Amino acid sequence: MSERSDLRAAEEAIRRRRPEDFASVDPGDVVTARWVRMKCTYGCGGYGGCLTCPPHSPTPSETREMLDEYETAYLIWWGDSPPGRSVLAEIERDVFLAGHYKAFTFATGPCRLCDPCPLEPPCRHPHQARPSMEACGIDVYSTAHRAGFPLRVVTSHEDTPNFYSLLLVD
Ligand code: SF4
Repeated sequence: MSERSDLRAAEEAIRRRRPEDFASVDPGDVVTARWVRMKCTYGCGGYGGCLTCPPHSPTPSETREMLDEYETAYLIWWGDSPPGRSVLAEIERDVFLAGHYKAFTFATGPCRLCDPCPLEPPCRHPHQARPSMEACGIDVYSTAHRAGFPLRVVTSHEDTPNFYSLLLVD
């Protein structure tokens, strides 16, 4: 497990991108569930629309197994502005170069780096394309609530959404 002092560079890399807030979370407290995948498959217009979304993205159980390989993670709250994949990739890169060789980011929403996604590997922007938490079966609501952050169902276009990303460190 990373020592606290080792995590200063990771926290600084996050802070520099000016999120609303962020919190250290135990990867064991990141909730995965099969219903998340079901919601992606039945009811999401983005299903099958890019290489970072189902059916191409990891299943909830694969994600659970991956999360269990980590001991340190950060949940990053971006307020009502979804973070660009390039910003998240920059954070991941900074953290990797600080010595955290397992650094990996989960983004938010479908990947829109190409328009449209060619849906044929290899991905055209492999250094930036990262799957969203929900695309990998993470229950973002429960995970945010466990970390003490707000998230509720958006019920109208006037409602304010909240966006999150997850950074695995170690
Ligand atoms: S970067 Fe392009 S090819 Fe890769 S997942 Fe995103 S949209 Fe698809």
